[in-house]
Amino acid sequence: MTEKQLRNFSYLIYGFIIILICGVLFYSGHSSRFRDFVLNIENASFDLRQTIVSKYKNPSQDIVILSVDDATYEYIMDKYGAWPISRKVWSDCIENIEKVNPKNIIFDMLFIKSNFSDKESDLALVNSVKKFNNVYLSMNFDNYSDEIRKSAELDDKFALKINQGALLDNEYISFINSRTIMPELTDVTDNVGVINVTRDEDGILRDMTPVFRYKNKYYPNLSLKVALDLLNRDSITIKNNTIIIDDSHSIPLDNTQRAILNWYGKSGTYKHIPLWQAIKAYKTDDMKFLKENFENKIIYIGTTATSLSDIKSTPVESNMSGIELHATFLNNILQNDFIKKVSAKINFLIAIILAVLTGYWVLKIQSVPKTMLVLVAMLAFWGLASTYLMLKLNLWLDVVTPYFAMITTFVLVYCEKYILKSKDYEQTYKLAVTDGLTQLYNHRYFQEQMIINVNSYKRYGNQFSLILIDIDFFKKFNDTYGHQSGDCVLKQVANILKKNSRTSDIACRYGGEEMAVILTHTNKQDAITTANKICLAVRNNKFILANGEKVNVTISVGVASVGADGETPQDLIAYSDKCLYKAKESGRNQVVFEV
Ligand code: GH3
Ligand code: MG
Ligand code: MG
Repeated sequence: MTEKQLRNFSYLIYGFIIILICGVLFYSGHSSRFRDFVLNIENASFDLRQTIVSKYKNPSQDIVILSVDDATYEYIMDKYGAWPISRKVWSDCIENIEKVNPKNIIFDMLFIKSNFSDKESDLALVNSVKKFNNVYLSMNFDNYSDEIRKSAELDDKFALKINQGALLDNEYISFINSRTIMPELTDVTDNVGVINVTRDEDGILRDMTPVFRYKNKYYPNLSLKVALDLLNRDSITIKNNTIIIDDSHSIPLDNTQRAILNWYGKSGTYKHIPLWQAIKAYKTDDMKFLKENFENKIIYIGTTATSLSDIKSTPVESNMSGIELHATFLNNILQNDFIKKVSAKINFLIAIILAVLTGYWVLKIQSVPKTMLVLVAMLAFWGLASTYLMLKLNLWLDVVTPYFAMITTFVLVYCEKYILKSKDYEQTYKLAVTDGLTQLYNHRYFQEQMIINVNSYKRYGNQFSLILIDIDFFKKFNDTYGHQSGDCVLKQVANILKKNSRTSDIACRYGGEEMAVILTHTNKQDAITTANKICLAVRNNKFILANGEKVNVTISVGVASVGADGETPQDLIAYSDKCLYKAKESGRNQVVFEV
């Protein structure tokens, strides 16, 4: 590659990279699809990290899930023949579990006003809820218009007290409608929380909404309500986009005002007791079973049966029952264990540092496979480091931005290195074949080119000729004017050679004050013409010496052509040398082409 080609090549690469970066910026600015695309990859990397990290985490042993699983559903259909089951069952459940002093009994289900429910059973549940102040009930918000369903009016006692700060309104926290919970129930308890869950664009549930807005008041998520009571707090403070419960418990919010859940594993993280087992236990007064499983426990009651379809996609599992989410949210609050998303500024800084490091190593390391290894190692390093930091510090550091920065830098630096290297090579090669004084090709290059041209003649019949030049009385010239002036003349003769030959001709310094020109694709007749032209040009030239003096110099020239005068480099050199000798013999300052 010539220098010019190299330069064009590097412009091409710079251009390509600038277009790429502009493209990315343009698309991220103009296309929400592109932004979502990037976000989805980042989210997927989060899911992967959570799947790994969750294996090393310890969930709270205090939380137990009393579930209506598929087996229980069968059991209920067999015994009661309907779902939802009679509220008497839940009343019995509360009464019996309360015998072993659980911390809380939390219902992840809605006891709504219903025309079908039987009054006696409903009343039993009301009495049980009234009797125990550690029983929690659910409510649910939605966005149906008032024309479809009249939105429930909620008693002030269910609202959440916020000491200071406020939440930004958005679709994830604000709702306009709600189903009415049995008024007899809401009359007897303050313990009601919201169980809405929201998903990300890709349908995966990563965040939980801690506080909801409904009719200009705030209401706590069910698990937040339970947590506040467990921690003896009745209000929260919002500061720096964080919900502060007390000195050691807070909930960091993301830009949607939701909390990013930190997972402890797949379904079954918490102890699951199927409801049918519990019913059997208390029907047979198996206090040992009840004590073992429920004493001093935080008990979530809800459905896990696939036939009741309360199934969500989460980072750690694609089909998790909703009740696991609520348990995980409570676990996160109690262990102060939420994921914190690192700010864009810090992510940007990390991306820059990693890119610079990658670039540094790529520049420094010579071997190609090792350079590749550096990129792979850097990518792996950040994958592992960001996972480790998620495990140890609950931090969500971006993976996509640093990866993009590292890969782009790698490509950029690698290309730049290649360009520099080939430039370097070109320069070294040029030095190796050039004569320092005259800037003509040197003797070695001359010999190589003679071989190449002879081969090309033998294979393809390509004609070429050789002109050998020797300056007349140069020894004397040196003696008269000095070596410096001699060098000046050598340079100027070289320039005349270059000027009077074609770009395809190869002008060389044969040695001392002898020069040679290989005339490619040139027959003897044309070579003689060129030789005469050169001889004349030297004769007519005023050579300027080191001291500014102008003098005349002449040359003698010998010409040989491939074929007629020889078929090897040696033959041709010998023939032209003989011609040159004859020219000297015949009075110098002339061209000789025959011996
Ligand atoms: P002739 O006409 O027979 O060629 O006479 P000449 O004196 O030129 O004889 P010859 O070609 O044998 O002399 C070569 C001389 O060229 C010897 C040396 O003084 C001079 N010479 C060779 N290389 C250089 C060089 O690099 N610089 C200078 N200044 N002189 C050189
Ligand atoms: Mg000589
Ligand atoms: Mg000479």
